[in-house]
Amino acid sequence: MQSSPKASQPPRERIWRNALLASMAGGTGLGMVEAATVVVRGERIAYAGPAAQAPEPLGPDSEVIDCGGRCITPGLIDCHTHLVHGGNRAHEFELRLQGATYQQIAAAGGGIIATLRATRAATQEGLVAQALPRLDALVAEGVTTVEVKSGYGLDLENERKMLSAARQLGTLRHVGVRTTFLGAHALPPEAGGDADAFIAQVAGQMLPTLAAEGLVDAVDAFCEGIAFSPSQVARVFAAAARLDLPVKLHADQLSNLHGAELAATHHALSADHLEHTDEAGVRAMARAGTVAVLLPGAFYFLREKTLPPVELLRRHGVPMAVATDCNPGTSPLTSLLLAMNMAATQFRLTVEECLAGTTREAARALGIARDTGSVEAGKYADLAIWDIGSPSELVYRIGFNPLHSRIWRGR
Ligand SMILES: [Zn+2]
Repeated sequence: MQSSPKASQPPRERIWRNALLASMAGGTGLGMVEAATVVVRGERIAYAGPAAQAPEPLGPDSEVIDCGGRCITPGLIDCHTHLVHGGNRAHEFELRLQGATYQQIAAAGGGIIATLRATRAATQEGLVAQALPRLDALVAEGVTTVEVKSGYGLDLENERKMLSAARQLGTLRHVGVRTTFLGAHALPPEAGGDADAFIAQVAGQMLPTLAAEGLVDAVDAFCEGIAFSPSQVARVFAAAARLDLPVKLHADQLSNLHGAELAATHHALSADHLEHTDEAGVRAMARAGTVAVLLPGAFYFLREKTLPPVELLRRHGVPMAVATDCNPGTSPLTSLLLAMNMAATQFRLTVEECLAGTTREAARALGIARDTGSVEAGKYADLAIWDIGSPSELVYRIGFNPLHSRIWRGR
């Protein structure tokens, strides 16, 4: 286990020279600078750009690092994960490959209820221990910020345990953790099929309590025929608004319930999945500034056929992010580099869109773009340094990790 992040203080100033910088600054483009210098003071970036304009080192104790032409990008951001959960569903996967139907698997105690049971049975420490290898896999690929959702506890005590486990992960590794309350993920068995009563509990009890405990950075819901209706989601979002918390939505993944419009109406940070979103939904997102989070891992694992409306998103200027959706049921994926490759091969995103989608736009999808997501003065020194000659190599390769080193908040 690594030492506590709080134990190591960054040097006063660190200077990376001779880098191929893809800053992702300025709102569009890769922000490429050859032979660039990046100056970090404490945990923030003081300068990033051409060597000629770089400030003089503060003094003899400034640490100077020659990058040898390596590529610096912002640290990657995985803006949609269910990283904290109990157990896995490998056996269910095996049964499906042998021809079992979803109904047979559900009847045998599989599906989301299996994860709910395993999550409820685990202690907080147990959840942390199970999540750490998944987090480490992401971190090893240059991830410096990860979002973690609750939603497998589905009662106050177990949702608290999940969110507390997520917070604890951020104290055990040098990585930023953003927590999202996903109480409206599925109906727990004890609800007896009464979704409205459960939503009242989510919006009226769980969310206000957990928000008061400082465990919630954003609020999410699953709007789908197999989950919750738009009007039920709207009640959760109204509760979030009363607490001044931003919202996000699992929207239009399997059918078009107009989740994208619903998210936009509530000024959501992001609407995620979007395979079945139509042009009206895309227009609404563009007006609201809602980020489209594309999740190619779930698309791949479920062998979906309907692509998200990437061309419409481009035409209407909706920013696109890419994430792993790491979860045990539909996207057991712990590689953001592979998610980038899948977004390119399956959804035809460009290299620039894939890289922006895991840096600048992913930060926007989490509401933290002021602090991270690009390499520019004033932001956190969250950097990834790669043994590559061009950013396209990050998207092009399959199952290869060219990370040289990773900096989180200057460390
Ligand atoms: Zn998800």
